Amino acid sequence: MRVLLVEDDRALADGLSRSFIDWGFDVTLATTGAYADTALRTQPYDLVMLDLGLPDSDGLELLRQLRARKSAVPVLILTARDGLNDRVKGLGLGADDYMTKPFELQELEARVRALLRRSHGGFNHDIVVGRLIFDTLKQQIKVDDIPILLPSREFGVLEALLLQMGRVVSKDSIAQRLAVHADELADNAIEVYIHRLRKRLIPVGINIRTIRGLGYLLEQNKDA
Ligand code: CA
Repeated sequence: MRVLLVEDDRALADGLSRSFIDWGFDVTLATTGAYADTALRTQPYDLVMLDLGLPDSDGLELLRQLRARKSAVPVLILTARDGLNDRVKGLGLGADDYMTKPFELQELEARVRALLRRSHGGFNHDIVVGRLIFDTLKQQIKVDDIPILLPSREFGVLEALLLQMGRVVSKDSIAQRLAVHADELADNAIEVYIHRLRKRLIPVGINIRTIRGLGYLLEQNKDA
């Protein structure tokens, strides 16, 4: 999940960045309207946190232009302005939610998650395979409710398999997902990750089946 944090107050921006990272987001910080505008025109985001009072422009103008470009990215306005006028204007210009400073982090998190649920068509963001639960928003894997920490490459491979649960996932599409995580892959790297994941998953009752020439299939071991 990628969030663009538009906020010129450095202390607040740093605090918010840390919170969003804790909640499982990749954070891009924009401290000016110009930077935010460039970011929004060049990168995809899952969420925009928008301050209205920016040093070089007004957040509402940024929002107006964003919606004029037909972008549907969820926007949550977070501002010190609490006038009814600004609130109505912000929502009228296509903001999805509006919060005023000061605010409670807990409430912000709840609203952010609600927005993301809505923008993803209300789908349940947990993928459950037997005792394993993958929270796709938090990017967290739990077994028996205990978070499991995996090396990032192994996590990427498992994520690829979980997101396509019940389907055969080709080595190519796994490699594509790993490109997000890092550098280059040695020839048999994916086999190595699959081998390590198998060892971890067998005790949990999950198999990774090799389908010759096609790829891998994640499945629950029915006998487990
Ligand atoms: Ca500001």
